[in-house]
Amino acid sequence: MGKIENLQVINGEGYQLTTLEKVLGIARSNSVWPLPFATSCCGIEFMATMGSNYDLARFGMERMSFSPRQADLLIVAGTISKKLGPVLKKVYEQMAEPKWVLSVGACASSGGIFDTYSVLQGIDRVIPVDVYVPGCPPRPEQIIDGVMRIHDLVKNEPLRRRYSDEYRHLLSGYNIESNEK
Ligand code: SF4
Repeated sequence: MGKIENLQVINGEGYQLTTLEKVLGIARSNSVWPLPFATSCCGIEFMATMGSNYDLARFGMERMSFSPRQADLLIVAGTISKKLGPVLKKVYEQMAEPKWVLSVGACASSGGIFDTYSVLQGIDRVIPVDVYVPGCPPRPEQIIDGVMRIHDLVKNEPLRRRYSDEYRHLLSGYNIESNEK
């Protein structure tokens, strides 16, 4: 038995064996295409995260997608008004499975300091969230940490998860229909 990047393999003479699930997990986690849904100050912090000092390209993530169909990680950074909630949900619904959501900063995660009539008190009121990054604003290092937690989830996700009753139940709680039939 050997280990490459947490990948369990069985080494033989001239061959290595592992599971398709683990290979796909590693491939997916190293080729995430993010869709930045940035509305305010946290969005600026995310731009710094993409820049050369912090460099998201080291994870193969420099290719931002502004088309939901060509993205698998929705990064929500900034204050989301209640009026914008349905737009965010529509973008999420248009993304193909498998997809993940990173909530960046206090506003996206909980409404932050804006406990007002017009601000959504957390995007998890309209879509499921995989990882929350705290802070107002979070530093780029924190955002990168959130991205790495997403990578862990992507790498270790069972292939059948998106077809499971548990996942359908999660989506139905948000009145969202699964793309996977
Ligand atoms: S959490 Fe703070 S920095 Fe981020 S969008 Fe809200 S007010 Fe701005």
